[in-house]
Amino acid sequence: MSDYDYDLFVIGGGSGGVRAARVAASEAGARVALAEEDRYGGTCVIRGCVPKKLMVFASGYHDIHEEAQAYGWDMQPGTFDWSRFKPKLDAELDRLEGIYRKLLKNAGVTTYDARAKLKDGHTVELSTGETVTARHILLAMGGRPVRPEVPHAELGHVSDDLFHLETLPKTALIVGGGYIACEFACILHGLGVEVTQYYRGAQILRGFDDEARGLVAEMMKDRGIDLHTGTDIVQMKPADEREGEPETGGGMGPSQQDAGEEATGTYDRPKGPVWVQGSNGQEREFDLVLYATGRKPNTDDMGLEEAGVTLGRMGAVKVDEYGATSCESVHAIGDVTNRVNLTPVAIREGMAFVETVFKDNPTPADHELIPSAIFTQPEMGTVGLSEEAARDQEEIEVYATSFRPMQTAFADRPHRVMMKLVVSKATRKVLGCHIVAPEAGEMIQLAGIAIKMGATKEDFDRTCAVHPTMAEEIVTMRHPVRTG
Ligand code: NDP
Repeated sequence: MSDYDYDLFVIGGGSGGVRAARVAASEAGARVALAEEDRYGGTCVIRGCVPKKLMVFASGYHDIHEEAQAYGWDMQPGTFDWSRFKPKLDAELDRLEGIYRKLLKNAGVTTYDARAKLKDGHTVELSTGETVTARHILLAMGGRPVRPEVPHAELGHVSDDLFHLETLPKTALIVGGGYIACEFACILHGLGVEVTQYYRGAQILRGFDDEARGLVAEMMKDRGIDLHTGTDIVQMKPADEREGEPETGGGMGPSQQDAGEEATGTYDRPKGPVWVQGSNGQEREFDLVLYATGRKPNTDDMGLEEAGVTLGRMGAVKVDEYGATSCESVHAIGDVTNRVNLTPVAIREGMAFVETVFKDNPTPADHELIPSAIFTQPEMGTVGLSEEAARDQEEIEVYATSFRPMQTAFADRPHRVMMKLVVSKATRKVLGCHIVAPEAGEMIQLAGIAIKMGATKEDFDRTCAVHPTMAEEIVTMRHPVRTG
């Protein structure tokens, strides 16, 4: 009989934590408990991928009438009604949360609706006052959005807040150029909001293939998003405080104490429009400012360092390839480790943890060749190295094509798509694949299998095209557009 209350205690009921708990209980016969302080499903289900994707779908109907008319339909433009969409969205998230709870229950996992923190490497203190012990503890607390440390940062929303809006703004400023900024710029634009985006760097989506992100940026601008690169907020304040007030030159206002406050979505944000001065000289009011300026692991006040768990940059839990921390009985998976912050990666890390710790089958997390998609309009799907990163590594050939797809070209729309393969000159292996097109996320999932298997350019060449499709171009590019 074990000296501990449980074999495994999981802190965090997001995708990674729930999967690890379920599999440890149902497949390894472990006695498992899990604590979640908020809603089951975590970032992905409650305030990330799922509600975001439903909003992507909603925004996709924006200009469908234009295409439909070109195809002979008598379809008239309409407007989007947030008050009709929002309750359906809420109901869907409730349903999914219920499924997560049920999955845990059916697997025999004991759940605590409470905040948990470490007392030591085998003991967890709950906000209910209870203390429980476990042979192993798994940290799966995820992360949260953060605002930059600037005066009046509290005036800005973060992504979590967008799913709780009572009404849609007429105008929005989005700050940032990463996944979340670009996706929400497209979503809000599609829902009828006038969107301005400030990104401090030279081109959005830093780190992705230059040509692919260039096309996404061009298409976003073409569709009507007012994108300003090399631009940041110089100062902002509530629009009603602006009247007759002398310029402060960006100095600290009364809300200085809130600057850089970490976002919870629960504190009292002043209502009403925000006046913004941009570094591009623009001065104007926006109904909503969204800071999409990155996320931070949820490791504050968790008793981690006291229990011997080492934290790294941004407070991320330091782990080895098996998810082991510096405290022998404590492991960590997902965004709390700030490695590859994607739901399927956290889930796989959770499964690898169970294999390693409960099935005597040491399994490192595999972070090689992870396909991913950015749900902009058009989408970007990507796997492997960008052209720039590959060229830094070895000699390459680049096969690329950009064209107007049949469906929208027929409707006289200017939309363009892009397909690109980055190929090793020495091994002929495809090192990277980048697709900018409608449904690029669906396409890259399949291309990702071939590339993970080590497909060469010649393997792509000998695969017969599916005609007529956009994706057929990925197997019909005969000559490199660049080498070296
Ligand atoms: P990212 O790190 O992708 O982007 C943050 C952006 O904010 C960057 O453009 C960064 O600029 C900018 N920024 C950072 N600090 C400041 C500042 N002080 N002032 C102005 N701009 C600033 O974070 P996200 O929040 O967009 O996404 C977090 C993670 O969530 C992603 O890395 C991804 O793993 C995951 N995610 C995945 C999605 C998907 O798979 N489709 C969707 C959404 C999120 P710079 O480039 O100069 O650093």
